[in-house]
Amino acid sequence: MDSCDLIIIGAGVAGLSAALEAVRVCPKCEVVVLSKSDFSMSNSHFAQGGIAAVFDRVNDSIEKHFNDTLLAGGGLGNPAMIETLVMQAPNRILDLIANGVDFDTESDGALALGLEGGHSANRIVHQKDHTGKSLIDNLLHRAKQHPRIQLLKNQHGLRLIKDAQGNCAGIWVWNGKEVKGYTAKSVLLATGGCGQLFRFTTNPAVATGDGLAMASYMGASISGLAYMQFHPTALYAKNENPLFLISEAVRGAGAYLVNHHGERFVFKLDDRGELATRDVVSKAITGELKTSAYPYVFLDARHFKHGFFKSSFPLIYSKLKQRRIDPETDLIPVCPAAHYLCGGIDVDKYGRTNVPGLFALGECANSGLQGKNRLASNALSEALVFAKYVAEEMCVFANERVQKPDLILGDKPSVSNEKSSVSSYKKELLYKATDCLSYEDNHFLLQKAGVDLQELYKAFSSKKCVSIQDWIFRDLVWVANLMCMQRFIMPNEK
Ligand SMILES: Cc1cc2nc3c(=O)[nH]c(=O)nc-3n(C[C@H](O)[C@H](O)[C@H](O)COP(=O)(O)OP(=O)(O)OC[C@H]3O[C@@H](n4cnc5c(N)ncnc54)[C@H](O)[C@@H]3O)c2cc1C
Repeated sequence: MDSCDLIIIGAGVAGLSAALEAVRVCPKCEVVVLSKSDFSMSNSHFAQGGIAAVFDRVNDSIEKHFNDTLLAGGGLGNPAMIETLVMQAPNRILDLIANGVDFDTESDGALALGLEGGHSANRIVHQKDHTGKSLIDNLLHRAKQHPRIQLLKNQHGLRLIKDAQGNCAGIWVWNGKEVKGYTAKSVLLATGGCGQLFRFTTNPAVATGDGLAMASYMGASISGLAYMQFHPTALYAKNENPLFLISEAVRGAGAYLVNHHGERFVFKLDDRGELATRDVVSKAITGELKTSAYPYVFLDARHFKHGFFKSSFPLIYSKLKQRRIDPETDLIPVCPAAHYLCGGIDVDKYGRTNVPGLFALGECANSGLQGKNRLASNALSEALVFAKYVAEEMCVFANERVQKPDLILGDKPSVSNEKSSVSSYKKELLYKATDCLSYEDNHFLLQKAGVDLQELYKAFSSKKCVSIQDWIFRDLVWVANLMCMQRFIMPNEK
């Protein structure tokens, strides 16, 4: 077994920011960061729109950002956490700039601030429509250069390890050849979301909710799974996974939604129209789809000034061109897709779970900040702001834990390179069940989804997991079960 002070599972914005912060505040600690895939494969890397932070002190204010966040979350967000977020987000942006991140600016040098749904002022700091890639490239570069951070890719965390006192003390990892154990004084789950539970998602293949499964098997409290956010405007494609995102910033710039008769329809549900929050816009689209023969509606940006789309959204423009869609002359087919998990592993401001030694940060964590619906571009801000508090607390915990842990290893997980026994028909069963979790408030359908998911889990967990795909699928079904249970007991809250 290898050992280190801090082990961080996940190399997105949460994991990398926490690693950099830990080595900054603790002069000796050694940090290992694991990623189950390549470092470019994370929700963070694919983030387009940007990072929410108040810089315009004339038309915007910290209070407005606070109120918009609380309102988007249906009034359920934790006010103390929101306050920390909105107060600290501008400082974290300034840190990033000081460390070389190149955000877009106006001709006078001030930060260019975009607008997105649910925001009452322009406050989205961005780099074109590839903010996530720029951010991750910067964090990765800095982490790779640091002598006390070890970055390991293609390391799939399987199960957490406990010590005799019930503290989290490490993790079993599959590295493609063997299962290896790592012990650590503090363990951080920064494993991101679980969009891959759903047929239509914007999340890449790594977003399978592994952190949620690992935490729940260890006894960590998990809540808010009923609050899966659906992004209204994924680029529709029948057989693509993930679906490519058309950033909310495109609606922020003035694009609007029309149905197959060319009519705008979101105003029927909300006075803010296309700039209402994501839950509202997704609901409006779902309503249209129910009465339509098509699985998509359209985003219309044909009225943009010539050249504006291409220069402002180069990534989206090139994807559309590949699909032979010219946004200057064509309508863009879009549909809602699973995008962001608002709930997750319950944590406090310092990322502490109810299992000592186990911390969580980023999309896999439920800090209570987002309420039932995340305000656009608050996810990156949340990870950046809270990484500071979490890293400090992990170092304090690690420094106080001087004795060598008395480990309870249990059965070492077994994985091999044998062919997966997960057939496509089983995935289809999972999708059928989670389709019901997507938008349905129908008690009967939810109940049916619950029964189907339980049967799928029973059938699958009685078999020996052979390949890593088996492990991933079993954990996905387990997380779907948890989500269904939580969705089922609060059907009217959505
Ligand atoms: C297309 C898209 C666009 C978005 N745009 C924005 C935006 O503009 N603004 C915004 O605020 N938010 C945006 N979001 C949401 C935001 O990007 C994410 O919520 C946030 O980046 C999550 O960061 P994270 O570090 O928690 O997780 P991720 O960035 O998803 O990183 C998870 C990491 O965990 C690793 N991992 C997972 N399981 C395991 C395991 N078992 N073992 C080892 N490693 C594991 C993965 O390999 C990965 O490195 C967007 C999301 C998507 C999908």
